[in-house]
Amino acid sequence: RPVLAVVGRPNVGKSTLVNRILGRREAVVQDTPGVTRDRVSYDAVWNGREFVVVDTGGWASDADGMAARIAEQAELAIGAADAVLFVVDATVGTLDEDEAVVRVLRRSKKPVVLAANKVDDPRAEAEAAAMWNLGLGEPYAVSALHGRGSGDLLDAVLEALPPAPPESFEEVRGPLRVAIVGKPNVGKSSLLNKLAGAERSVVDNASGTTVDPVDELVELDGRTYQFVDTAGIRRRVKEASGHEYYASLRTQGAIERAEICVMVIDAAETVSDQDLRILTSVVEAGKGLVLVFNKWDLTDDERRYYLAREVEKDLQTYWWAPRVNLSALSGRHVDRLGKAIEEAYSGWEQRISTGKLNAFLGRLVAAHPHPVRGGKQPRILFGTQAQAGPPTFILFTTGDLDPQYLRYVERRLREEFGFPGTPIHLQVRARE
Ligand code: GDP
Repeated sequence: RPVLAVVGRPNVGKSTLVNRILGRREAVVQDTPGVTRDRVSYDAVWNGREFVVVDTGGWASDADGMAARIAEQAELAIGAADAVLFVVDATVGTLDEDEAVVRVLRRSKKPVVLAANKVDDPRAEAEAAAMWNLGLGEPYAVSALHGRGSGDLLDAVLEALPPAPPESFEEVRGPLRVAIVGKPNVGKSSLLNKLAGAERSVVDNASGTTVDPVDELVELDGRTYQFVDTAGIRRRVKEASGHEYYASLRTQGAIERAEICVMVIDAAETVSDQDLRILTSVVEAGKGLVLVFNKWDLTDDERRYYLAREVEKDLQTYWWAPRVNLSALSGRHVDRLGKAIEEAYSGWEQRISTGKLNAFLGRLVAAHPHPVRGGKQPRILFGTQAQAGPPTFILFTTGDLDPQYLRYVERRLREEFGFPGTPIHLQVRARE
């Protein structure tokens, strides 16, 4: 995590500002200027971005040598930081001690955000503007005490910190885990054989990744995937009483362990209740979804016509899932699966900033307000994406929303932002 050092001379309000950043009362505020305190670091998060705040505190004020001491301390803190939040007191202006820190900052070449604190009312803004003369860029007028301007300041801090490394799933958690699911005889093991076929021996243990013995590493389009519970697919359990029960337990287990589920449906047969049950499990577990219509070689124009109508009727709720029509037997279009899995993963991991989300919600509510119900009209006040994998949104409202309206919100979210191949979870927090 990137480190933000908060520096400035004693009594400019650093600790109060750190409290603001942390959104809690953890850093102790020292009313006595110049109390010796160690550097303290805290975990902070703003707009989903985590960083560490190092509060350099106040330093011993042994009259002479004060400026030098501060510069020395600041130098240490700055050296270890990725960016620096330099706090000055707008009501006092810049003192020698401030200048000493500025010199250190210039030398360090670290990105600096300048906070002109104690701008408790608009009249003090002019004093904040005077801080341009420090040559550190725009002074952010804030009141750490009242919280004024702290949002803009934090946005600027995020800008100054190094960009978040693109967290590739493979680096963080190993290969993406994929479950091939579907009822018996739809062609799961045939598909697995085609996928693993030539590649299997090559990738086995070559990457040094520890893989559950029931799983297999498969390479598609140059990327490695961990297909989970393939042993359950390969080991062809003979139909016996209770078989279906165990099969569904296994399916459930595979779904839980995967990020993305490839749901195999027999294109030559009518979509069945069992297919729909498995699909429900996938979506309820919040996993990414790819629909595979297998045995395409067995379909003729007539069957395809009817299949399209069945899909429209029974699988309409999954319209957002990437689809691949293929033949596991001949191998035709099996090579399209990798791209579909990646697409589902991109939707599953997609994140929308709070700003974009609320601009969208504002337009949505204006164009399509919630219907009046029992004399009341619940309204969405604000929303935030709490999580990805799957995308989970919290909507703050003035009352409970109709399921139908929630479906509308979900559909509009997809139209606006995409979210291919993933369920979307919407949670409502009503402020009655
Ligand atoms: P699983 O139970 O889902 O693993 O299904 P299998 O892979 O064992 O396949 C069941 C049957 O369907 C086998 O006889 C396969 O040969 C056949 N099958 C699988 N995929 C295809 C396909 O794409 N086309 C045709 N014609 N048959 C297929």
